[in-house]
Amino acid sequence: MTTGRFDRGVCVRFPPEPNGYLHIGHAKAICIDFGAALKYGGKCNLRFDDTNPVKEDTEYVNAIQEDVHWLGFEWDGLYYASDYFEKMYLFAEKLIEKGLAYVDDQTAAEIAATRGSLTEPGKESPFRNREPEENLALFREMQAGRYADGEKVLRAKINMASPNINLRDPVIYRISHTPHHNTGEYWKVYPMYDFAHPLEDAIENVTHSLCTLEFEDHRPLYNWVLEALEWPFPPRQIEFARLELTHTVMSKRYLKELVDGNVVEGWDDPRMPTIAGIRRRGYTPEAVRTFCDEIGVAKKDDSKVDIAMLEHIVREDLKAKAESRNVIFNPVKLVITNYPEGRTEEAAMENSRENPELGERFVPFSRELWIDADDFMEEPAPKYFRLFPGNEVRLKGAYFVTCTGFKKDADGEIIEIYCTYDPGTKSGSGFEGRKVKGTIHWVEATTALSITVREYDYLFEDDEDGGQRLNENSARTMTCRAEPSLANARPGARFQFFRHGYYIADAKLSSDLPDGEKVFNQIVGLKSSWK
Ligand code: ATP
Ligand code: MG
Repeated sequence: MTTGRFDRGVCVRFPPEPNGYLHIGHAKAICIDFGAALKYGGKCNLRFDDTNPVKEDTEYVNAIQEDVHWLGFEWDGLYYASDYFEKMYLFAEKLIEKGLAYVDDQTAAEIAATRGSLTEPGKESPFRNREPEENLALFREMQAGRYADGEKVLRAKINMASPNINLRDPVIYRISHTPHHNTGEYWKVYPMYDFAHPLEDAIENVTHSLCTLEFEDHRPLYNWVLEALEWPFPPRQIEFARLELTHTVMSKRYLKELVDGNVVEGWDDPRMPTIAGIRRRGYTPEAVRTFCDEIGVAKKDDSKVDIAMLEHIVREDLKAKAESRNVIFNPVKLVITNYPEGRTEEAAMENSRENPELGERFVPFSRELWIDADDFMEEPAPKYFRLFPGNEVRLKGAYFVTCTGFKKDADGEIIEIYCTYDPGTKSGSGFEGRKVKGTIHWVEATTALSITVREYDYLFEDDEDGGQRLNENSARTMTCRAEPSLANARPGARFQFFRHGYYIADAKLSSDLPDGEKVFNQIVGLKSSWK
């Protein structure tokens, strides 16, 4: 290598371990990594940190690529750490030859017990002073498959009295006979993260190795490895704060337990904090990127970010983009007794109150409508301006109606409400004779669709002590009445259900046929609790 550190241009990487699906915490890392490359005109690689044969899977490799793309980023190089096993092995031999690594026959428990503590130095292994030739022979035997898992390890020979415990002769290679998803049965020894990671970065000419703060204490070891191998222009490790969110658990291992235990529908369950779950939930990549930008500068490591902030950004993003539709969640029939039977007309509805550019649509109107049961009270509460006997309201986009009565079934449930309409009051006709205080929404009964709506609560409840508990009631499914235009909703299309919130046509469950059954997932409610 002949060029200096600053001649090469910035090169960073996003290095996930393919042992699960990415979550919203990884989205932060992705935005920082790819964002740095964009900002400095450099490169960002996607590198699968697949040095542990036990937990990794190609399903995850594919899902991770899909998620990075969905967030809107494109990598320069696509690499697998396992492609460097040969190089890493030779670097390990080089350390042995330099007297900087030794084979230790102690068990994992013995090694842990002699590590020392923050106040006490560690104890040197009885195998610490083996000669390089003996170490080399033993290490080669380890790779040749002579020993069982755990029987021997390779340790860096640094300093058992170092105040930084990571420098007390860390294990850098261990034996594993588990086949690897990429290299099969060839390797019997596998590098540990702290040895592998600086080499992966250095081999790829990474200039800045961005990682989360828990690796800060590992930085001296990162530097030691590259110095011991006399790397000419070693990359620099720089840490940033890990994202923690309220109502969320961010650990692939734990999320995998939820999937394996069928607690959720899968990695892409709309309640999951995975990128796949967030996508299916209907969050937009733009909103996730905006969120990452805002927390990137505003938050320190010790504070959890309120998930309401993410929801707020999602809501703001959808306000300008999502068209409104009328959906009745708790339907009751409204009959307009003076409207001619058999007649239908069209009512114009604005597609968005927030964004006039989204235009308008026409929905059918006739004698029988569905309205929300909450929009009627037999005996009105104070300041209740919606429908009650004798009161006049506006039917959104249509006429003024006055409630004339209602019918109950044998159980006392209201099953029909009656009203009369004033033909001179149609919306858009310029009528200014009188005003009404309440406006309610509706869908025409004979053309209404039946749709399935899934509403969500948080998957986790936060305990006082900072832990999380699984919320047993985080999903409910309802059948609702919807205006007929929703029959054409493309899977993945997002809407505002008027007065309720934002919803997405579920891409997996909604049939693409015009009359196919439609399932909508709640994205986010209309109101914000975030200050
Ligand atoms: P998990 O414990 O969820 O498996 P991890 O840190 O082991 O997470 P990796 O696949 O090793 O996951 O992470 C890839 C990159 O994403 C690393 O640089 C890591 O620091 C970063 N990362 C992981 N979790 C978060 C988080 N909550 N906030 C910010 N960055 C994160
Ligand atoms: Mg991990």
